[in-house]
Amino acid sequence: DDVVLEPEVTHDVVDEETKPMLDYENIKSSQDIEVPPLLIDQVIGHEESIETIKKAAKQRRNILLIGDPGVGKSMLAKGMAQILPHESLQDILIYPNVEDNNHPIIRTVPAGEGKKIVKATKGSARGHEERKTLITTLAIGGILIIGFFYGRILESIIAAALILLISIQIKPKNTTMSPKLLVNNEENRFAPFMDATGAHAGALLGDVRHDPYQSGGLGTPAHERVEAGMIHKANRGVLYIDEIGTMSMKTQQELLSAMQEKKYSITGQSENSSGAMVRSQAVPCDFVLVASGNIQVLEGMHIAMRSRIRGYGYEVFMKDYMEDTTENREKLVQFVAQEVKNDGRIPHFAPDALDEIIMEAKRRSGKQNALTLRLRELGGLVRSSGDVAIEKGADLVKAEHVLEAKKFSRTLEQQIADRSIIQRKEYSMVNAEGGRVGLVNGLAVIGDRSGIVSPIAAEAAPAQSKNGGQIIATGKLGEIASESVQNVSALIKKYTNKNLSDYDIHVQFIQTYDGVEGDSASVSIATAVISAVEEIPIDQTVALTGSLNVRGDVMPIGGATAKIEAAAESGMKKVLIPKSNLKDVMIEKKYEDMIEIIPTETLSDVLENILISGSKKDQLIEKMKSIGSKVAEKVPQS
Ligand code: ADP
Repeated sequence: DDVVLEPEVTHDVVDEETKPMLDYENIKSSQDIEVPPLLIDQVIGHEESIETIKKAAKQRRNILLIGDPGVGKSMLAKGMAQILPHESLQDILIYPNVEDNNHPIIRTVPAGEGKKIVKATKGSARGHEERKTLITTLAIGGILIIGFFYGRILESIIAAALILLISIQIKPKNTTMSPKLLVNNEENRFAPFMDATGAHAGALLGDVRHDPYQSGGLGTPAHERVEAGMIHKANRGVLYIDEIGTMSMKTQQELLSAMQEKKYSITGQSENSSGAMVRSQAVPCDFVLVASGNIQVLEGMHIAMRSRIRGYGYEVFMKDYMEDTTENREKLVQFVAQEVKNDGRIPHFAPDALDEIIMEAKRRSGKQNALTLRLRELGGLVRSSGDVAIEKGADLVKAEHVLEAKKFSRTLEQQIADRSIIQRKEYSMVNAEGGRVGLVNGLAVIGDRSGIVSPIAAEAAPAQSKNGGQIIATGKLGEIASESVQNVSALIKKYTNKNLSDYDIHVQFIQTYDGVEGDSASVSIATAVISAVEEIPIDQTVALTGSLNVRGDVMPIGGATAKIEAAAESGMKKVLIPKSNLKDVMIEKKYEDMIEIIPTETLSDVLENILISGSKKDQLIEKMKSIGSKVAEKVPQS
């Protein structure tokens, strides 16, 4: 077959937007943007959730926040603590119990008083000690002088020694009576915020330290060994727990009873320690619970806990993107200003660098007219851009620094994808030329947003068994392959007059990576199979992605932008994507001239663009057309 590539349907994807993303007339850099003092006002993109949080703060309600990582859940929780009423903060003291040593006594006092009380009792103890020393010294001195005066030296020394002994034996009562400050809110301007994510039972609920000398009476008094838990430190504030579903049921149960009672006794958490004998009076723990996680977290959550939050609080779903509007772009600029300020080590951003960040937020949203709200990651880019600027000795971060930082701050998955692109390039030096039967350059996404070329090979041989052919594929591919081959077998029969059940079909991913998602490989698999059955070579300079339904329509897939960029990086000349994905495409400028993007609507569009021209292809396409399948729509060149 001749190797003639047809320059067919083309489409210009990213419109040549050269004007800035925002009107920066009033600012020279992000430095001119005001950062609101309260954390809750720094949270961007979650207006509705913020309203709910504010309402909940007023009424001290619990909150369940559901959303993806890095969208600002813990930030909201912390912000809530800042707006809780804080005039009612308390210090918590623990006193020894003379009647029952193992049952220390709890007292609460207004914030700031606790330290004073401890100081005062310690102070009086010290005064006592000083007086004792003075009296002892005077007594010993007096006796010695009198003894020497009357020549009774030996007797006076013995008497002095006796006085010393007695004085040592007299312990001031106050030392053991002085309380310990369990929870100190002296310096807190806001209600406390405790992040108990991943805390073990002891840290969460409080604990009593073990004392090996306990039984001999020589040890540390019980009350001094009592340690407050986070539930107590969060008293009148916020207790935040991310991934609450991973907490053991027993701990969740205890947490629930602490929430209901608003007080919780502290006892030793390890059974064989002397601490387990100690149980304090109930310690106040009147906190607001903010639990969070992604939607799966609900599965591991104690049912009663969930219903408690529903009954006495709000469930809030947090989006991972916001609409791309001028207002929201301005919010992103505010976000950059915040990140710069909080970091404290990097310079502010010039308008062109702010543009670059907005563009990146657009790209990362993976949607048309949207900006990502996965701002933890975007904050990472802000910081590494700042680092680049510092390295270059610049006093403002410029667009070029952001672009360079994007190269450096690549996720593990992106680095793996990069590696495979290099390998792919080496490999394709031999193979990207001309056609190969049964081999397609599929496209996949690994990790969050790293595209990768993932070649798929199909081979067809006459069926071994009389009962018909088999589809042979291993692992995860097995399911996808048999499903997509089944989906297309009727189509293939229609198009090729061949019965797939006359063949054993082997399908194989040439390189596999975890997380290669299924559906978007179905067009690739179908193409490879048709090529193998019909022995029509596939153009190796073309990559493709798309999901196929039984009617032969190409359905949309995820990660279009990342996949196209990966194809371009790997040296592909064309990429076929579902037409319905065109609106999601936001490839970087540098790729625009490297690769031609061809929208496809049907399997015949795909075949027309990817099979190498020749008589066999012409026959196939003609047949497909005569059957009346949809013909590739030609998008006018612009
Ligand atoms: P989550 O708890 O959802 O995983 P975090 O609240 O820990 O996310 O977010 C991490 C950081 O990312 C924040 O400290 C903040 O710098 C930034 N960030 C995340 N979401 C937002 C947001 N909606 N507005 C402003 N900054 C955000």
